[in-house]
This record gives sequence, structure tokens and C-alpha cells, in this order.
Amino acid sequence: MRYIDPHIHVISRTTDDYERLAIAGCVAVSEPAFWPGYDRGGVEAFGDYFRQLTEHEPRRAAQYGIRHFCWLCINAKEAENVQLGREVIALIPEFLDRPNVLGIGEIGLNKNTPNECTIFCEHVDLAVGRDELVLIHTPHLEDKYKGTRMILDMLANEPRTDPNRVLVDHAEEHTIEAILDGGYWCGLTLYPITKCTRQRAADMIEMYGTERLLVNSAGDWGPSDPMAVPRLILEMRRRGHSDEDISTIVYENPLRFFSQCKRFSLG
Ligand SMILES: [Zn+2]
Repeated sequence: MRYIDPHIHVISRTTDDYERLAIAGCVAVSEPAFWPGYDRGGVEAFGDYFRQLTEHEPRRAAQYGIRHFCWLCINAKEAENVQLGREVIALIPEFLDRPNVLGIGEIGLNKNTPNECTIFCEHVDLAVGRDELVLIHTPHLEDKYKGTRMILDMLANEPRTDPNRVLVDHAEEHTIEAILDGGYWCGLTLYPITKCTRQRAADMIEMYGTERLLVNSAGDWGPSDPMAVPRLILEMRRRGHSDEDISTIVYENPLRFFSQCKRFSLG
């Protein structure tokens, strides 16, 4: 079955992973800008990163017949440095019109600090001012419920926000309802340790239906599984879900959300 992984950090993965994705039916990936595992030395490093995401990686993916899209921002962890955050936000517009850029992301919160909130709101301001899509990272583990609430409150306080143009990611059982009730798109991240297993994701799909729900691997440089989406497809088949319902989750929904970006095309 063809599918899209709407959240995967493929620059951290090997070409063998690309080949496995392609064999499993992956036709497109979207890669949010994220923390590289260390704090970068300055704004120039973000310029290099954005060039990697918009120039080099699409070519690497194309060798496996996979379309590569990306999102730009400074991640919540490095955004604790507000001055650096503002320098990166000032840099983003010169990259925004590149053909594989889908919008601003993954912005969000890490430790739910005031500095993170400041830079989050300034990213949202940039996004709504330029009519860009937004992809949001919600914090992990014990910070998740509070951080998700704070993010939804900040979005609600920006009257220009159109929830249908925002994807709130890394949802779990205790945050999915508030995200969907707000009219946002909601992402479930299939992770081997933290976040959500494929069984829990399948349970949530059975409880909440397929509307505005996406699944992703969030594969990166840490313990993670780039094959997580095809494994969810197997889990849903095992439970007797129709190919049509499975395809809605793993292909049609990402396509529908991304298609709101004027630059997006799978052609
Ligand atoms: Zn991510």
C-alpha cells in the first residue's frame, strides 16, 4: 500500500532506510526542522541546515523514488535562547518559497518555559502573516498534557489562526481529544519507547475515527523506527480494518493536509 510518512527526520537515516521505505510503499516524506542532538553554534548553522533540507535531501530521497518535503523553524529546545530564536525567524523567509517547503515547524514546547512560548508565538505570527501551514511538536512524557494545553491556548489567542491549517503532533490518549475538538489536524507518533505504540495508535483510530488523524514514525537519530507506519498498516489489517480506512490514515489525510500549501504537489 502506498503511504506518506508526514514526520520523519530522514537526514539522520541511512540510504538503506530510504530503500526499505520505498520497498514498503512510501511515496513521500515530510521532515520538520528539529534539534540535531546538540545546540548549534549560531544562526549560520541554521542556514546550512535549511539548505540541507531544501537542496540536498530532496535529491537523496529522489534516488529512491520518494518525494521529500520539509518544514522550517528553530526547535523549542534551542529556542530557549530568544535572541538566537529571533535571528533564525528572520532567516526563514528567504527559504520559505523553495519548492519542497510546506510551512513552519516543528515549533512547540519542550520544557514549557516562557522563552519557548515567546518564540512559539513569533513563529505563529510569521506563519499566519504569510498564510503558511504550521506543524507543532508537543512535549514528551510528564510535560505533554500541560504543554499541549499551553499550545492550544496560545493558538486560540491568535485570532488569525485557522485550525484546519495546523497539525498538532505527538498526541496521546490524554491529549488527542482536545486537539481534535479544537478543529486541528492531529498526529500520532509511533515510537518504540516513548510516545505511542502501533497498538495504542490503532486503539485511538478505532475510538476517534479517521478524520483529521495522521500517523508518523518521527524516525530520527535516536531510538526510533522508520518502518513504523508500514507496521501500523499491518496492525490495522490484522484487526480487520478496510484498505480504504487504512489508506485514509496513511495516505489521503497527509495528502489533504499538505495540499493546502500552494507549493505542494506529488506530481
Ligand atoms: Zn520531529
